[in-house]
Order: sequence, then structure tokens, then C-alpha cells
Amino acid sequence: MAKRKLKLGYLYPKLLSIYGDYGNVLILKKRCEWRNIDLTVNEINVGDDIPENDLYFVGGGQDLQQIAVSDDLQRNKSFLHDEMNKNAVFLAICGGYQLLGKYYQPHDGERLDGISLLDIYTVAGNKRFIGNVTTKLSDNIDLPLKTLVGFENHSGLTYLEGNTKPISTVITGNGNNGKDKTEGARYKNVFGTYLHGPFLSKNPHFADYLIQLALYKKYGNSEKLETLDDKEELSAHSALINKKY
Ligand code: GLN
Repeated sequence: MAKRKLKLGYLYPKLLSIYGDYGNVLILKKRCEWRNIDLTVNEINVGDDIPENDLYFVGGGQDLQQIAVSDDLQRNKSFLHDEMNKNAVFLAICGGYQLLGKYYQPHDGERLDGISLLDIYTVAGNKRFIGNVTTKLSDNIDLPLKTLVGFENHSGLTYLEGNTKPISTVITGNGNNGKDKTEGARYKNVFGTYLHGPFLSKNPHFADYLIQLALYKKYGNSEKLETLDDKEELSAHSALINKKY
């Protein structure tokens, strides 16, 4: 089989990449490499034009850094909507996730406009949610392993509207807002989550799900990816699932 190629646009790495979120990009690159898939990573910072990609990643960040990103994202809003409508795969973590929605209202200062790829809005709460999170995958994400795990650190409370659905339901921890038991959000192939860790390090099944969606978008085939030895990743996953909280 000819070497398959994918491109990933890494959005705002200089501003949004806290709590090791960059690790998600390394994990996607490595899991592609192990299957002889060439994943090219295009870093896109403030002021840069965005080339077309098959996947996009944006990490988390503090309120201050989110101001610059919110502003620059407006310039790229219609392009990124076009990419979403071409079924490009987006993974957004925490602060980046918030800005793919309609807006993020921090504790202090102006409301930050998002780009509404996701029909969500976020308002800073009085409490910071910090700790491990375990969740049960939503039925519309059919994977052999039905749980997700990670670490949350956010004061933003996110609420879903319209056709944007959660990616999972909270078992332990807070998730989107600590009230409605939802965690993360999905619309088309746009995925947001509050799970740091990096997220994909303990959820290899979700990493492969994203790669599979990108291959389908690019090549139209839904061939199953070769199985990898995920012993270590899955033992980290089950350690969180079995931890007594
Ligand atoms: N600044 C945002 C909040 O506190 C996002 C934090 C993050 O990305 N971890 O909710």
C-alpha cells in the first residue's frame, strides 16, 4: 500500500499548550508513524494563514493567552467553518475547546468571542475544578473501550446547545460544568474536551478513532487501523478507572 499522508494544523502552540497538551500532537504523529502513515504537523500562530489540513489540534491555556487567540481566530473563522464542513477532524482541549464555541466569559474582563464550530458557551464559575476525571463514552462514539480518563483544571463552566452533543458522561470528576454530568462536546468531526493528561496518552482508542476519521475524510476508506501494543497506555487508563476516589 502506498504511504498514506495526513496533515495536522497545530493551532496557537505558542499560546495554548499548557499541562502537556502538546503531547496529544506527538501521540497522533507516533501512532500514525507506527502504521506507516506520514503525519505532517503545521504549526499555526497568531497572524499566520492556515493551510488546509486533515486534522486540527488546539490545547488549553490561561485566560490571558485566550484573549489573543480569540482575536486571531475571528480572522480564520470562515476558513475553519469550511474545514469543519469538509469533515476535517478537530481536537480541542479546555481553553481551546472553549474558543471553538460561541464565547467564553472569564471572571474578569471582556467576553471572548469563539468561532461557533461547537454550539456551546462558557462562563467562568467561582470554583476551579481540578482533579482526575473518568467518564463513559456516548453511544454515538462506538469504540471497544467505553470509558475516557484525564485530568481537569478549569473554572469555565460549559453548556451545550442545539446539535452539539457531549462525547461522554461523567463518572467521577466535574466535566463541562459540574452539574449536568456531560463531558466534552462534538459536532460533525469537531471534538472538544476538558481532559488534559495529555488526553490521548491514556485514551489510545480515542486517538485511533480520530486518525480513522481523518483517513476516511482523506481517502474515503474505513479500513481498521493495525492494532498496536497499548499495554502501558491501557494500564494507565484502568489505574484511573479503578482508583478509589
Ligand atoms: N482559562 C480557562 C479556564 O480556566 C481554560 C483553562 C485550561 O485550558 N486548562 O476555564
